[in-house]
Formats: sequence, C-alpha cells, structure tokens
Amino acid sequence: MSKRLLIFGPPAAGKGTHAKRLAGELLIPHIATGDMLRKAIQEGTQFGRHADSYIQRGQLVPDEVVMSLLQERLAKPDAGGGFLLDGFPRTISQARALDARMGEQDQGIDAVLALEAPVEVLVKRISGRQICAACGSVFNRFFRPTQVAGRCDDCQGPLSQRSDDAEAAVRQRLEQYRAVTAPLLAFFASAQWPVHVIESVGEVEEIYGRLRQAVGN
Ligand code: AMP
Repeated sequence: MSKRLLIFGPPAAGKGTHAKRLAGELLIPHIATGDMLRKAIQEGTQFGRHADSYIQRGQLVPDEVVMSLLQERLAKPDAGGGFLLDGFPRTISQARALDARMGEQDQGIDAVLALEAPVEVLVKRISGRQICAACGSVFNRFFRPTQVAGRCDDCQGPLSQRSDDAEAAVRQRLEQYRAVTAPLLAFFASAQWPVHVIESVGEVEEIYGRLRQAVGN
C-alpha cells in the first residue's frame, strides 16, 4: 500500500478533513504545513512571527521558512515509514526540494491525491467554515452545521472563523493557487509521482471513498 503521500488542491478542497482521517487509518503522520505555521504563530516562535503577516494577507509564506519547518518535521522518526503531506509543496522550489530529499533516500512519492472542486463550491465552503478554538474540529455552517450554533459538537468549545478565511484573503489564496500552485501538477508528472485526480464534490463519505480507492483499500 502507498505510504508516502501528498494531498493537493485549492483552499477548502477538503484536504485537511480527509487527510487527518486517511493518515489515522494508514498509521502515518499527517504533516500539514498550514497547521504547523498556525501553531508556530500561537507559540510566538521566530518562524511564527515571520509567517504571521503573510498568512493574514492570504499570501504564501517564504519558501525558506516553510522548508526549514518541513525538513525538521520529516527528520523525526515517525516520518521514516511514510507520511501524508498536506499543503506542501505549494511552489516549484518546494517541490524540487522535496524531490531532492526523496532522491537522497532513494525514495519517491507513492501517490499525489489531487482534489478538485469548482470555485463557487470552494468559496461557499470557506465562507461557512468554523473552527473550534479548543480542539481544532472543523465544521461548516452550510455543509456540516453544529447541533448548537457557535459551539463545537465534540467538546462544546467556542467556534470561530480562521482570520485568513475573510473575503479579501480568500480571493488572494485562490489566485495564488491558480497561478503558482496548480502548475505543480505538471512537475509531479515529470517526477513520475503518480497523480490521482479526485473530484471533491458530493458527500464527505463518497469523496473519502474515492481517496481510499486511489491509495489502495
Ligand atoms: P492551509 O492551512 O494549508 O490553507 O495554509 C494556510 C496558510 O499558510 C496559507 O494560505 C499560506 O499563507 C501558509 N502556508 C501553508 N503551507 C504553505 C506552503 N507550503 N508554502 C507557503 N505558505 C504556506
């Protein structure tokens, strides 16, 4: 079964939701650069302070910041048997750096799970997204409403919107994806990383089933 995986796609394609579950089932770490950066911001580390203003504006954090966080994470023992990368790579130099690291270890990426959804679906998903400040569970006012408005179903913590889910930042993130990140699909093909295009529209279970099938059930 595939063990070194990338989940790829535009903001709100469902990467985080599916990646957490898939990594849990495959017993590999879910490594999400967005989550790592948000944690660094919360902890007030040097990386966090550097990344904060980029994230607020919906811009990509400079490659060297993301790369050093990621290289450090991939060097941890739990990533030795495989990993699911989420939100990385997002630029050609990040993709090249990952390819070089894999090459040094005589490894490759076993599968790229490329989620696709129409822009209007993405915008609705983003504008409805609510995150629990206490446990990190993600809900959606339109697609996954909570039982009590404004309260997490899992821990009853307060829900809030991600600061970069505000409208101006969202437009910027979608544009960055179109112009800078989407073209990486051609790089993946040239690096011979098998790309599985997955339609991320419909019921969550249905989409997850497509992902499971792509990695081999
Ligand atoms: P995400 O949670 O994946 O949507 O990421 C949130 C934000 O973190 C993005 O809009 C970027 O500002 C930043 N970010 C996450 N991953 C990367 C990356 N690989 N390269 C540059 N910036 C990133």
